[in-house]
Amino acid sequence: MDKPSRSPVAEAGAPVSLPALYAWPLRPLAALKWLLGEYLLPWVYLFAALAIVSWYFLTPDLAVMKVLSWEWVALIWLRNAALLTLFAAPLHWWLYTRQGQQDQTKLNKKWQPKNSPRFLFNSQLKDNLFWSLVSGVTIWTLYESMTYWLYANGYVQLVEWKGSEIYLLIMGVLTIFWSSAHFYFVHRLLHWPPLYRIAHALHHKNNSPQPWSGISMHPIEHGIYFSVFVLFWFVPVHPVLVILLGFFQGISPAISHSGFQEIRLGKHLQIAAGDPFHQIHHKYYEVNYGNKPAPFDKLFGSWHDGTVEAKRAFRMQRAQSQ
Ligand SMILES: [Zn+2]
Ligand SMILES: [Zn+2]
Repeated sequence: MDKPSRSPVAEAGAPVSLPALYAWPLRPLAALKWLLGEYLLPWVYLFAALAIVSWYFLTPDLAVMKVLSWEWVALIWLRNAALLTLFAAPLHWWLYTRQGQQDQTKLNKKWQPKNSPRFLFNSQLKDNLFWSLVSGVTIWTLYESMTYWLYANGYVQLVEWKGSEIYLLIMGVLTIFWSSAHFYFVHRLLHWPPLYRIAHALHHKNNSPQPWSGISMHPIEHGIYFSVFVLFWFVPVHPVLVILLGFFQGISPAISHSGFQEIRLGKHLQIAAGDPFHQIHHKYYEVNYGNKPAPFDKLFGSWHDGTVEAKRAFRMQRAQSQ
């Protein structure tokens, strides 16, 4: 947390601007460019491709999932744990272990000590690995498996691709917005002091988050956070979208929490990674509860764009409330 006596400097990545989708007067072309380019590129396209591969090759048959059994649930757990590791481990290795790009595009320029008694096992990495894999992937897998069980038993009607391509494409895009909107509201709930103390404080130990911090949360928070799947208990889709939602909720935080705005590999390859908007939440707590694609923070007055002006306004607001 910054101290009031220091004159503020802008946060890395500032000013965080509202997506063109919400421009007024409307800017349809810019909105489309934002949606298909900045928003979905490259990660969501990659998750979508991975979701298709996962459904056809890495998920048990629906007929098998008619009857709840630990055997097929464990296979889904393994797939989710392996895929999360496939993203988070190389990111951590490149950015933190090897420090492959030093502090280029690092959102918090200060390197955190590897060991700290604040964390389980005295280590941010081990703490994050534990909560992400033991609790995070398990609760994500349970929600995902429950969803398949409902589809397998006909409680929710599965929508096939043939003849429903447009509906499923629209639902695919809406799924990502749903994830952002759901996140804003459950995240506000998690900042309710009693719930914050027993659950959400664990995620906030990472005031300088790293890839494995993404879903490093208390099991109560996981139970709330992954309730995002409940939408598909009522709105029928194809299971590929169920997997996509899982990846967006379970894997994309490894990227947004990477702590680096861009991954730089060589001189010419730069890939968007860490989210400056959420990084500001990890620093100031009471702002930026949501994500940019569903900017409820703008609507409810908790939007912090990282500029010096926003910092001054935030300090004044905090001083008045104390
Ligand atoms: Zn976070
Ligand atoms: Zn929070």
